[in-house]
Amino acid sequence: MKIINVAIDGPAGAGKSTISRKAAAEMGYIYIDTGALYRTVGLNAMRQGADLDSDDSIIATLTDELKVELRFIDGEQRMFLNGDDVSADIRTPEASMAASRVSAVPRVREYLFDLQKNLAKNNSCVMDGRDIGTVVLPDADVKIFLTASPEARAERRYKELTEKGMDVKLEDVLADMIKRDYDDSHRAIAPLKQADDAILCDTSELNLEESIDLIINTIKSNI
Ligand code: C5P
Repeated sequence: MKIINVAIDGPAGAGKSTISRKAAAEMGYIYIDTGALYRTVGLNAMRQGADLDSDDSIIATLTDELKVELRFIDGEQRMFLNGDDVSADIRTPEASMAASRVSAVPRVREYLFDLQKNLAKNNSCVMDGRDIGTVVLPDADVKIFLTASPEARAERRYKELTEKGMDVKLEDVLADMIKRDYDDSHRAIAPLKQADDAILCDTSELNLEESIDLIINTIKSNI
């Protein structure tokens, strides 16, 4: 059977993971959340006490002993750091910031590149991230750039975090979002940007169901 790769890129909080997961299930593909890989490397750097403003300090945490693994358990992606399941630990605001920092280090991107490439080579998948259509899978069968206004995205992320019982303020979530967008789209390596051949999908005015339908229809009509 032909392997189909769908690349979905876009800024933080655009609903990429929820929408990509549903779209993958509908298509019978696996869903690969690449942000979770950067989060795991970021968490490791935090736990190692690295100075996150220093590339060298971050690179020093990429030791031969470091094991970042992605496993599928009951069809769900889980992240393992040196054998421990850190799928919940990588979701805190601190881990988000650490992920954004480490992801700007070229050596970190190289470190995670083969893992992403090999997953897509062997499986039909929906892979989401920031540079999937531009760098990781430039030949993907379908490329989507999924976005929404910063306010709409901050509202959604705030709801998600407070529902998990986290004590956060909407204004802080919005400020973090704007800062991460800026950092992600201005970094020298693999900046967040729409691939020339990606289809733009804006979900600011759509609810979740409508957004999922839009993405599934876009995939189906382009494979
Ligand atoms: O998607 P998520 O918010 O989980 O990603 C966390 C961080 O990882 C992002 O802010 C971004 O800096 C980085 N990232 C990246 N490239 C990807 C996926 C995520 O640089 N393909």
